[in-house]
Amino acid sequence: MTKKIFTGIMLMSGLAVLIAVLFVTGIIYRHYSERAAAELCSKGRLIAAAVEQQGESYLDNTDFDELRVTWISPEGRVIFDSEEDPDTLGDHSDRIEIHKALESGEGGSSRYSSTIMQKTINYAKRINDGSVIRVSDVHMSAAALMASTADNVVLIFAAIALLSALGAVLVSRNIVRPVNNIDLDHPDISRNYKELAPLLTKLRLQNGRVSRQLDELTRSRRQFSIITENMDSGLIIADSKTAILAINSSAWRLLGSTQPADGASIFALDHSDTFRRCIQDAMGGKRSECILSTSGGDREILASPAKSTGMINGIVVFIHDVTEKQQLEIMRREFTSNVSHELKTPLTTIYGISDMLANGIVKPEDISSFGCDIRNEADRLITLINDIVSLSKLDENSIPRQDTDVDLYELAQEIIARLAPNAQAKQVTGQLTGEHITLRCNRTVIDEIIYNLCDNAIKYNTDGGSFEVRVSHIPTKALITVSDNGPGIPAEHLSRIFERFYRVDKSRSRKVKGTGLGLSIVKHGVMYLGGTVRAESTPGSGTVFTVELPIDKQA
Ligand code: ADP
Repeated sequence: MTKKIFTGIMLMSGLAVLIAVLFVTGIIYRHYSERAAAELCSKGRLIAAAVEQQGESYLDNTDFDELRVTWISPEGRVIFDSEEDPDTLGDHSDRIEIHKALESGEGGSSRYSSTIMQKTINYAKRINDGSVIRVSDVHMSAAALMASTADNVVLIFAAIALLSALGAVLVSRNIVRPVNNIDLDHPDISRNYKELAPLLTKLRLQNGRVSRQLDELTRSRRQFSIITENMDSGLIIADSKTAILAINSSAWRLLGSTQPADGASIFALDHSDTFRRCIQDAMGGKRSECILSTSGGDREILASPAKSTGMINGIVVFIHDVTEKQQLEIMRREFTSNVSHELKTPLTTIYGISDMLANGIVKPEDISSFGCDIRNEADRLITLINDIVSLSKLDENSIPRQDTDVDLYELAQEIIARLAPNAQAKQVTGQLTGEHITLRCNRTVIDEIIYNLCDNAIKYNTDGGSFEVRVSHIPTKALITVSDNGPGIPAEHLSRIFERFYRVDKSRSRKVKGTGLGLSIVKHGVMYLGGTVRAESTPGSGTVFTVELPIDKQA
């Protein structure tokens, strides 16, 4: 805008100066020509008067300087010429000024010579004898006048151009300054050009609209952020060039990454091939999913392309923590394979023995011993199935809440009595100490807990060893402690004994009846009752299991 105003002012002032110069030159030239003509006229009259009085001698004796004087006879023949030989000059009667002078006494004319850019002005006067005195003078044409002053004109032009340029800069800046100083956010109509009022009004309306839209955008962004930040799952939105557009903190935390920088690529969050392939598939328009194993656990990645009018604009990625799900899946698979294995072993034995019996290979005196073997294996199967049933009931939380008041001391006493044959077989002595604590709970579950712990204290004890069941309480909890002085459990196994089918010494345990599910039932039973169980053991000295149950269930 400044440039346009500047150029406009310069053009206008240049044009104005040019017109002024032409106009002034014209006036001066006209004035100069009129004065020259008047001077020539008076000179002509004087010379004519002198010739009338003195005749040719005047002309011969006078120096006319630049002035050309010609004396022409009434017939038009040149009698005298101050510059040329009269004989060389032809008939002059046809010359305008001569013609006029012969006819009316005096006359004038002017002739322009483009070659010398000069103008010759003539004045002719008829004298008494009918002849004509003509005086001629040469003076500059308007063009020549201008050319002769060209240097000065150029100088004046340059000076005016400089001044105009300075003026134009100042003026254009002055005009533009208020426009440049307009506060676009808060345009003030009263402090600006009137001509700008419609524009500023539009600007104000536009600003209002933009700020309302911005508020709306900020509000919806904040809502989006609040919602996504409170999600447990990770959410990432990336554009078609993989640059992250939105990400919640769960996403980068679940991937074990740090908060990505603005505009970072989604690939910066995880460098594994699995993740890269999954994202690339989605970028290629295919919904894809994968499981990533990170230091924090297993993550399920679900990546979907975001399409509009057939074009992929970006992708939406959901990340879920599936560590527990994966572990449960592994446990389920292990459990199934363990169950199959544990069921197969006694059944194979039963099948083998019954096959021998059927084929009559067994001697009659051995039949009863083989029968015992079949019963023992069947017994093992029944125990295993009972344990699986108990465990699955606890797993599914399908045990009916038939709580009754149970005196833990009395129950422990009853269980020790139930296990007396087993204890006797191993010459293990059991002892019950403590107090009568009544707990309101499911009797079957608490029975299984104490039974399994006492059974283990006998089973895994050394022959002739002992165990103790102690029932006590602390302000908020009932405590059941089952300790024995058996061989104990090595530290590396202690953390795993509550796992399903986990047995410390498989070859030794094989000789001891058991399913590997006893302590799992204890653990889940205790959890069902809202308590905790822990095991402490000193190899060679014995093991202590401590069960803590919330006493608020006490009747
Ligand atoms: P099982 O049915 O084989 O007894 P458990 O789940 O009850 O299975 O026990 C798991 C393993 O923990 C056992 O195989 C045994 O090796 C070990 N264990 C359990 N209780 C004791 C204990 N009191 N003393 C030594 N080892 C024990």
